Amino acid sequence: MAAKGDMLYAWSTDAEIQKKGECGGAVTALLKYALEKKIVDGVLAVKKGIDLYDAQPTFITDPKEIAQTSGSLHCGTLLLSKLVKNYLDGADKMKIAVTVKGCDAMGLYELAKRKQVNLDNVVMIGVNCGGSVSPITARKMILDKFGVDPDKVTKEEIDKGQFIIEYEGGHKGISIDELEEQGAGRRSNCRRCKVKVPRQADLACGNWGVIGDKAGKATFVEVCSEKGANLLNAAVKDKALATEAPNAKGIEMRGKVEGAMMKLGDKWRDKDFKGLGEGRDRLKKIMQETSRCIKCYSCILACPICYCVDCTTKNPAYVNPGQVPPNFMFHLIRFAHIADSCINCGQCQELCPAEIPNALFMHAQQVELEKMFGHVPGMDMSLPLLALVEEKEERARLTNTGSDMIFENVFKPVPK
Ligand code: FAD
Ligand code: SF4
Ligand code: SF4
Ligand code: SF4
Ligand code: SF4
Repeated sequence: MAAKGDMLYAWSTDAEIQKKGECGGAVTALLKYALEKKIVDGVLAVKKGIDLYDAQPTFITDPKEIAQTSGSLHCGTLLLSKLVKNYLDGADKMKIAVTVKGCDAMGLYELAKRKQVNLDNVVMIGVNCGGSVSPITARKMILDKFGVDPDKVTKEEIDKGQFIIEYEGGHKGISIDELEEQGAGRRSNCRRCKVKVPRQADLACGNWGVIGDKAGKATFVEVCSEKGANLLNAAVKDKALATEAPNAKGIEMRGKVEGAMMKLGDKWRDKDFKGLGEGRDRLKKIMQETSRCIKCYSCILACPICYCVDCTTKNPAYVNPGQVPPNFMFHLIRFAHIADSCINCGQCQELCPAEIPNALFMHAQQVELEKMFGHVPGMDMSLPLLALVEEKEERARLTNTGSDMIFENVFKPVPK
């Protein structure tokens, strides 16, 4: 019997799922099992749309349909967390299973803190994530760097540091480092991301560490919660899933790869944040870039931290109605409200029609706040900084002392 903290190799016992699955179909088998046994009412996962650059979210209640979600779509840049709030009533009245990348899991935690998602009703099946490539970048990269018509590509994968494509007539791989040096490759937020194994989920599943005869045919599963252990044990007991102890060398390799990815994430953070400058220079840059804003609200609609019914950016006292580009207060409001909780999911950048690097700006500020107050968003249910500020008390203190250092009396500095 597996318990929290255990690691194992797992694969589906169903030949069709095994074949369709990315690495033996363990994730699909667990989702199907959860539906069949009515452990959950529905599954939120991702399926291929018109082509492999088109990752679509899908909600499935019939276990027979689950196989359409098998396989990894590395050009799938979508975030599932807010869909749970917007379209599934925050899982308040039904139990759901969701396949989550690190950012999906973090978004669910941030929404749960704000009482927009009921995590008691959610089973999170995590997938490790080295990063995703924006569909437009992927098409361009395949044409320019691989010399292949993107419409002729039948499969893409990221393996051993390479972006690999299979197409009519062959296959080709180019190192991600090389692609990224030339401005292609993963989304910039993914390069800075350091949640590669989503241990906030109930199970964390991936291909790192699967070596020997099971390489490519099984998934490495880390059991991250009792809920995850219960689902896995039940699926094994009923023979929906097969498991074996992982190879010791495989465990070591997985640790090393994860460590290397953390270092790479730090390298990109350093590079990206330095490029923003500091202090007034940074502010000037942000003001310049955001002056292209067309006030379409995509960033707010997509952000898993933005959930308010009455958004302050629509309050005429702060942002002039009908003015495009909006006054800078539009962006300041977002920085003030959510920078402490930004999970660097990249949605506000990915979906911005004016191509403003919003996620970079917000992430840079989040990292500064993390250094000051030690709060790491998206990891657990610990409350965001602003939730700890009592507004009435703060206003009174402001009037009495004249100090605007609102955090001063609330937080103790993090020891260095
Ligand atoms: P399957 O049974 O094939 O199920 C795959 C599940 O992934 C399905 O539920 C599907 O809905 C979901 N899915 C597919 N695309 C997406 C997407 N874009 N966003 C959210 N969910 C999606 N493992 C590593 O060890 N290292 C990595 O660097 C790594 N990078 C990955 C990057 C991405 C974008 C994705 C989606 C997965 C990545 N994985 C990585 C996980 C790995 O590819 C397999 O998903 C995992 O081993 C499970 O295999 P399986 O056969 O059990 O999954
Ligand atoms: Fe994966 Fe992190 Fe990018 Fe999300 S932000 S897609 S978890 S690398
Ligand atoms: Fe402005 Fe871009 Fe946000 Fe639209 S998505 S409101 S253009 S910053
Ligand atoms: Fe994601 Fe942007 Fe919101 Fe940060 S601000 S959580 S990157 S959508
Ligand atoms: Fe709420 Fe502020 Fe986001 Fe508007 S910008 S939805 S007020 S958190």
